[in-house]
Amino acid sequence: MSSMYCFQCAREYVEEVTECVECGVALVSEPPTPPEEVGEQDEPQVAYELYEWSFEARRMLEGLLTSEGISHGWQGAVLIVREADEDRVDALAEQAETADGPILDPEVEKIGYGMDEWSAEAQSALVAALGLAGVAHEFDAEGELIVAEEDEERVDEIIDQVAERVAMDDELGEASQVIEGLALNDLLGDVRVLANKLVKNGGDAKATLALVKKADVLSDVRTPFGFDSRTWSKIRLRASHMVGVLSDEDRDEDAVHEAASTLAAELSEVV
Ligand SMILES: [Zn+2]
Repeated sequence: MSSMYCFQCAREYVEEVTECVECGVALVSEPPTPPEEVGEQDEPQVAYELYEWSFEARRMLEGLLTSEGISHGWQGAVLIVREADEDRVDALAEQAETADGPILDPEVEKIGYGMDEWSAEAQSALVAALGLAGVAHEFDAEGELIVAEEDEERVDEIIDQVAERVAMDDELGEASQVIEGLALNDLLGDVRVLANKLVKNGGDAKATLALVKKADVLSDVRTPFGFDSRTWSKIRLRASHMVGVLSDEDRDEDAVHEAASTLAAELSEVV
């Protein structure tokens, strides 16, 4: 007679049992790998703390890892993998997490949104945003996004936000610099001070030179930890606009004043 196993605690159960009484997760048919046996001896490992994930999402990730043949083990809700597999595991974790939204009730009235003009990246950003907002959704065979009619207003709002963010990202291109912590605070603070100087005196040549340099750097910084990407894209957009205005030899003071005050105002929200 075959056994079933809990992938988190390795308890063995008779075939009829479907979930672990201890961990709550659905069982698997193969005994799990002990975490210390993941990878070669002394090979670096990474841990994913998935305490806040639902049982279903953890079970789904377990299934994805097994079907991809990625060596892994669990210590309770903590997943252990080889450091070498980190990127692949990140992708699967994202897949398991976004698939784990609330289920669309088959009984309610539904509406569909055509996704033809949405790129794959934009669609996955939309799915993530719907998941975060707890909006039940699915895609039909034609690739239309299906939601409950009663969620229409929320979904319209989320679609607008995501579309705006995607458009901003397209305009800005992907940022290449990683700046965090104190260095980031300094940069944001400096740009804000310099922008305020130009608000007071648009002809301040020293501040102009310094601001062109710093705002140019700022416009190429990736979304730092602790910022939502929408707010950050706005900051990048304002910084890049500022550089554009200041780099124009025929700039007029009104344009400088306008760009500097919107930039300073955007930054005053975060520094
Ligand atoms: Zn268990």
